[in-house]
Amino acid sequence: MPVQADTLIAGATIITLDDERRVIRNGAVAFAGDRIVGVGALADLSGIAAREVIDGRGFVLTPGFVNGHVHITETLIRGLIPEALPFEEELGEWVIPLYKSMTAREQAVGAQLAVAAMLRTGTTTFLEAGTILALDEVAEAIAPSGIRARLGRWSEDRVWEPGADGAALTGAAVEALAADLARHPDDGRRIVAWPNLIGHMTATDALWQAAATMAQKTRTGICAHMSPVGDDAAWYLAHSGRRPIAHLAQLGVLSPAVNLVHMVHVDSDEVALVAASGASVTHCPGAAIRCGYGTTRHGLFPEMARAGVNIALGTDGADNHDMMRVMTLMAGLFKDAREDRSLFPAQEVLAMATLGGAKAAGLAGEVGALVPGMKADIVAHDIRRPEWQPVNDPVNQLVWSADGRGVHSVWVDGRRVVNGFACTLLNEAALYDEGQALANDIRRRHDAARSHVVPMA
Ligand SMILES: [Zn+2]
Repeated sequence: MPVQADTLIAGATIITLDDERRVIRNGAVAFAGDRIVGVGALADLSGIAAREVIDGRGFVLTPGFVNGHVHITETLIRGLIPEALPFEEELGEWVIPLYKSMTAREQAVGAQLAVAAMLRTGTTTFLEAGTILALDEVAEAIAPSGIRARLGRWSEDRVWEPGADGAALTGAAVEALAADLARHPDDGRRIVAWPNLIGHMTATDALWQAAATMAQKTRTGICAHMSPVGDDAAWYLAHSGRRPIAHLAQLGVLSPAVNLVHMVHVDSDEVALVAASGASVTHCPGAAIRCGYGTTRHGLFPEMARAGVNIALGTDGADNHDMMRVMTLMAGLFKDAREDRSLFPAQEVLAMATLGGAKAAGLAGEVGALVPGMKADIVAHDIRRPEWQPVNDPVNQLVWSADGRGVHSVWVDGRRVVNGFACTLLNEAALYDEGQALANDIRRRHDAARSHVVPMA
């Protein structure tokens, strides 16, 4: 009985990420609607009748990458923050004031730029960091791009100002999260709200518990920053007598729905607690080395992997959203740090960027592999390029030789959102013009507020 498909990509090399980790040369992928209906050797898929047949020769196909942690509304301030600032000064005097000064339009345009950067380098799903202030405007702005996302509002409730009403702060944060989930429910749509928390020490136990209950009821998840540097552990030890993960475990909020981000400064007891809870950990190696977190000196990621922790990868801030660069870093950092070449081989790192991210996103079995029944989230890498030639081992070369510049086409839910190295559903030229104009505005405002800073040309 012939299978009907909308599209058949024929003759490509397919890195499936299926249970056997098959790599199929002269293979084919067929999809109908938003689902994959066939994957295999081209000769074995002759029974598929497709409306559109795409010549896949000259391409490696992979599943879409899942970015486990990204701040999409930070884009317009990329490059603006001096490199050498201490962590606290960078956050307190630059990052947070800049975030809070941005208009809804500035956030929306920055988000579109981040989405364009992700789509064009093969990311089809991302988990936002929980730092959006204008959530509805951002959701509306990125929905037409075709990307899949879990977004979170800037949520914290710790009393920082003397005399502030803590219960009111918690109530307002819980109410805002609940309203987001109601307006952007996980009902099959691509852009969904999650009860994300900023994390670190900014959320009270009450807010953590409310978010955990909400995530459980709505089958969503919680992303939260934790322990990029040693400050979070110091704070929790001083205030609760336990390290952060021990505190959250005791509170009962850790579960497979939780995605803990960074987790560089953790101890072996915390690794065991995360493993026991089923929570995911997203490592952002680019951010870690850029910000000097000490990931190669302190990070226990090899131990997490050995303990069975689901590790996803993320790009974090505004610098670069190419998950292929992140894979290269992840594959190399711990080989060097531990002087052990067996750590994090290319195949394992590719699985983190696809299957690991899918699990962290609550989308295991839906995205992250090219398998019949799963979403048609597909990346076509153009291998007729110098960094790809000659092709001997596609997985090894995907991680070590190539990068996102070779992404020719991307499909999300079976819809072609990138074609010929350009987004099909975003007007990139208009986006660059508006983004630069808005960034100029932000810089002028920020320079005026900080007259001791030398304005940029
Ligand atoms: Zn972050």
